[in-house]
Amino acid sequence: MWWWRKPRLKQEKLNKMESTRDYYEVLGVSKDANASEIKKSYRKMAMKFHPDQNPDDPKAEENFKELGEAYEVLGDEDKRAAYDRYGHAAFKQGGMGGGGGGGGFHDPMDIFSQVFGGAFGGGFEDFFGGGGGGGGRRRAKSGKKRGSDLRYDLEVALEEAAHGAEKELEIEKHAACDTCKSSGSKSGTGTKTCTTCGGQGQVVRQAGIFVQQSACPECRGAGQIISDPCGDCGGKGRRQKADRIRIKIPAGVDDGVRLRSSGNGDAGLRGGPAGDLYVFLHVKPHDIFERRGEDLYCEVPVAFSTAALGGELEVPTLEGKASIKVPAGTQGGTVFRLRNRGVQDISSGRKGDLHVEVQVEVPTRLDDEQKEKLKTFSESIGEKNSPLHEGFLEKAKRFFSL
Ligand SMILES: [Zn+2]
Ligand SMILES: [Zn+2]
Repeated sequence: MWWWRKPRLKQEKLNKMESTRDYYEVLGVSKDANASEIKKSYRKMAMKFHPDQNPDDPKAEENFKELGEAYEVLGDEDKRAAYDRYGHAAFKQGGMGGGGGGGGFHDPMDIFSQVFGGAFGGGFEDFFGGGGGGGGRRRAKSGKKRGSDLRYDLEVALEEAAHGAEKELEIEKHAACDTCKSSGSKSGTGTKTCTTCGGQGQVVRQAGIFVQQSACPECRGAGQIISDPCGDCGGKGRRQKADRIRIKIPAGVDDGVRLRSSGNGDAGLRGGPAGDLYVFLHVKPHDIFERRGEDLYCEVPVAFSTAALGGELEVPTLEGKASIKVPAGTQGGTVFRLRNRGVQDISSGRKGDLHVEVQVEVPTRLDDEQKEKLKTFSESIGEKNSPLHEGFLEKAKRFFSL
């Protein structure tokens, strides 16, 4: 089943989403910085921007928040890997630009898909794992955690966007571990609450004025310890692997539309709910057609003699060849409209039109005989044979006499 919305304000949306600062830049480290460098830089900058050090400075507070967000991602091996591959899209709940609390799927540029979700409601699993941005993601007591949302950029041909298509994508992601059935435990039962953090997954340390909260070193933030970790996934309940996913592209989609494939993002930690996969569509420029809304435009050359005498002209459409009647005396630039030969509107199903602009072709490389004939012909041309010329002379006369 599909939910769709029409793309609107798409450029604005895209700009907004690209303006999120790069996490490496925020933390002031290079892309190949190791974990301890990241940690060190985070501490240093957190000291600098800590609200206690900068009372009444909203800019510092903002920097501090941003810093926390960046560290939450780059300080975690899995999240950092996802960020390196998919950027910010990997972490925004409910898609780009939102950053709000759970759900929030009211983005007008979304086309929601339930490619694999079956009868599932879709999207509401977001309320479990890690709601919106900011710090301190809460975790369920079991150490389960929702998997990250993933982004996939897909190029499609205009024909595919217009008629719909089915595509198979190959995606590197965290997939559920089959060996332990995502539990992370060899026996499937052996988890106990971590005594170091009391199941919170976080420990708090005081260093001078600065209170630092970090992932528990004992359970690595899970809150639970597995006494018999699964050998295949190291107790995480998921493994990195290449996955093939089939998605259906509905007819009429346009450039910038994105599809959501529910539950096809990263698998959750220790059996937590999976994230979603967002497929961003990019429609490749077409050799012949230009699309504006539901209408298509193209230019077709017509022989000089056909334009003068009238005749049939073969024109391309997205569904194959069609033919139009060119009346005698057709001028270059004349546009013929073929009804219902455009692209289907994704909401109403109504089809747009195809606008064919004819370009009159001036013959080239004439041999002597052809030249002779053309000269004879042109000497026979009078005023009544040149409708544009007469009108133009009128205007030019007025223009020069000003
Ligand atoms: Zn396993
Ligand atoms: Zn712990």
